[in-house]
Amino acid sequence: MARPENNRLVHEPPLFNGFKPSGVQGHLLKTVTLSLDEFEAFRLADHIGLSHEEAADEMEISRPVFSKMIQRARQKVAMLIIEGKKLEIEGGNVHFQNNIFRCKSCGHMFKTSFQQTVTVCPSCGAEKLLNLAGGFGHGKCCGEHHRHRRHHHSKTRNKNSHE
Ligand SMILES: [Zn+2]
Ligand SMILES: [Zn+2]
Repeated sequence: MARPENNRLVHEPPLFNGFKPSGVQGHLLKTVTLSLDEFEAFRLADHIGLSHEEAADEMEISRPVFSKMIQRARQKVAMLIIEGKKLEIEGGNVHFQNNIFRCKSCGHMFKTSFQQTVTVCPSCGAEKLLNLAGGFGHGKCCGEHHRHRRHHHSKTRNKNSHE
């Protein structure tokens, strides 16, 4: 049973949607786009330090697909640092498993599920919240994706992967 490509799982939205070299105006820079699945591959392999196999499992993709993805992500990050490009994080065939909100008033960040409705900052009570999943064009789709997944979810994918 091939899993559709748009089911790649990303644990939570990135905290930032872009980076740029210091000292150069943005419009003078070329943009490199890191997709959300490449971002997640980079996070799992190089920030957390999972093996390709473990990371592929986290994202529910095959190890060869993961290996290609992490290679692309590393190339892009290297290009960004060596050549001085602007990085944009967006797109990719993903859904988030959790959401993160950032309070615009006190800076507090907190994780939520897509089932929870959050309107005030648990730290300061302000209502000015930045919805990080929303900023990447996600939200309801992620919640629905997980609800749907629960019916199908099993360990069977391990039987389908060949070592
Ligand atoms: Zn706050
Ligand atoms: Zn989504």
